[in-house]
Amino acid sequence: MTSGNWFIETQEQARRHEVIRALSAQFAARAARHDEEASFPHENIDALRKAGYVAWTTPKEFGGEEISLYEMLLHQEQVARGDGSTALAIGWHVGMMLSLRTTRAFPEPLFAEVCRSVVERGALINSCASEPATGSPSRGGRPQTTATPVAGGYRITGRKTFSTLSPALDWVLVTAGIADSEDVGEFLVTGKDIQIIETWNTMGMRATGSHDIVLQDVFVPEERLISRQRPGETSRRNSDGGGWTLHIPACYLGIALAARDFAVRYAATYQPNSLPHPIAKVAHIQEKLGQMELKLVAARTLMYDIARRWDAGNAAERLALRPQLGAVKTLATNAALEVVDLAMRVVGGRSIWRDLPLERMYRDVRAGLHNPPADDITYQMLANQALAEVQQS
Ligand SMILES: Cc1cc2nc3c(=O)[nH]c(=O)nc-3n(C[C@H](O)[C@H](O)[C@H](O)COP(=O)(O)OP(=O)(O)OC[C@H]3O[C@@H](n4cnc5c(N)ncnc54)[C@H](O)[C@@H]3O)c2cc1C
Repeated sequence: MTSGNWFIETQEQARRHEVIRALSAQFAARAARHDEEASFPHENIDALRKAGYVAWTTPKEFGGEEISLYEMLLHQEQVARGDGSTALAIGWHVGMMLSLRTTRAFPEPLFAEVCRSVVERGALINSCASEPATGSPSRGGRPQTTATPVAGGYRITGRKTFSTLSPALDWVLVTAGIADSEDVGEFLVTGKDIQIIETWNTMGMRATGSHDIVLQDVFVPEERLISRQRPGETSRRNSDGGGWTLHIPACYLGIALAARDFAVRYAATYQPNSLPHPIAKVAHIQEKLGQMELKLVAARTLMYDIARRWDAGNAAERLALRPQLGAVKTLATNAALEVVDLAMRVVGGRSIWRDLPLERMYRDVRAGLHNPPADDITYQMLANQALAEVQQS
């Protein structure tokens, strides 16, 4: 164990962790303002750019650091300990770069161009697939955004919702139904091609910049069509089981850790005049602190264990981990909700005051339920896996 974090195993991880720990403390100081204003934390993203963090998952051959999934989660969790919104926003970028590195789903010249832009000027990427009519793209609905074939490429028109990181995006992967066919394509457009409609006014994760984006008759050259699938087919981007999406549980566990830290400090120092000692020595408070630790250690151990297995696996083994990756997300996001709730019970009535961070954390962790995969999808994957195992034995 290094730097008070059980999961740090090497000197290099510890060195990088210290870089992120210093930044995360700055993010924590700005989190309340961005939450209040629902403003995008450009200065946090700039600081992550300056630290080189945005290229840590990019392949070494293009000048990145090529860190593992396990390492990405260590750092994402720490960013979230400072500010959940910043972590979720940058998590899509570093996660996608890791996924593109392992799946090589982009044509090679395009992937090289994207990687160089990340390394040289801190360019950022995200995938924007959600739409009002389809809801979560994981349910398989056909996008209403339409790509019409024209000479040399396509013209795309449509609107996406929940487009996290939109105020800072240089590259946007959008899904679109291809006109006059049942096929759905994934197209890489640039930040200049999109118009941001500032719709993001939510209860939690208010500083993620997850606005609507509009594409109006945008020309996309043929070589920027990344994949084309018939109904029921999955794209090459999903050929690695989606290990990179563990940035989602890492984010919500980071928020829960911050709530835990706050509650423990509060309990160790708050001494009402009815007690001869701080509340930390009261039995029901100790029980709540213990319950928080149990939930955190269980969810974090599962997350890092599955990440390690994913890192070590070949393509087929990674794909086979999909139910376990879902299990991590479901366990972690629900544990995060429970931990923040317990932290607030420890602190008591002061926990709902807006000048303390707990009420923001309480609102932020709620969003985790609506990031993929939804709990019912996880349970379905686990049920099907159990049925298959029993039938094979
Ligand atoms: C903070 C945050 C950031 C996000 N960032 C991004 C992003 O960067 N890019 C992006 O593309 N998306 C993003 N999303 C969107 C996310 O992936 C989902 O698309 C969105 O939350 C809507 O999901 P849903 O399940 O609530 O919606 P819906 O699919 O509309 O579901 C609504 C309800 O109906 C149920 N339901 C709907 N369809 C079915 C079905 N076929 N079978 C069973 N039940 C069904 C659901 O379980 C749910 O209870 C983000 C979401 C959040 C909260």
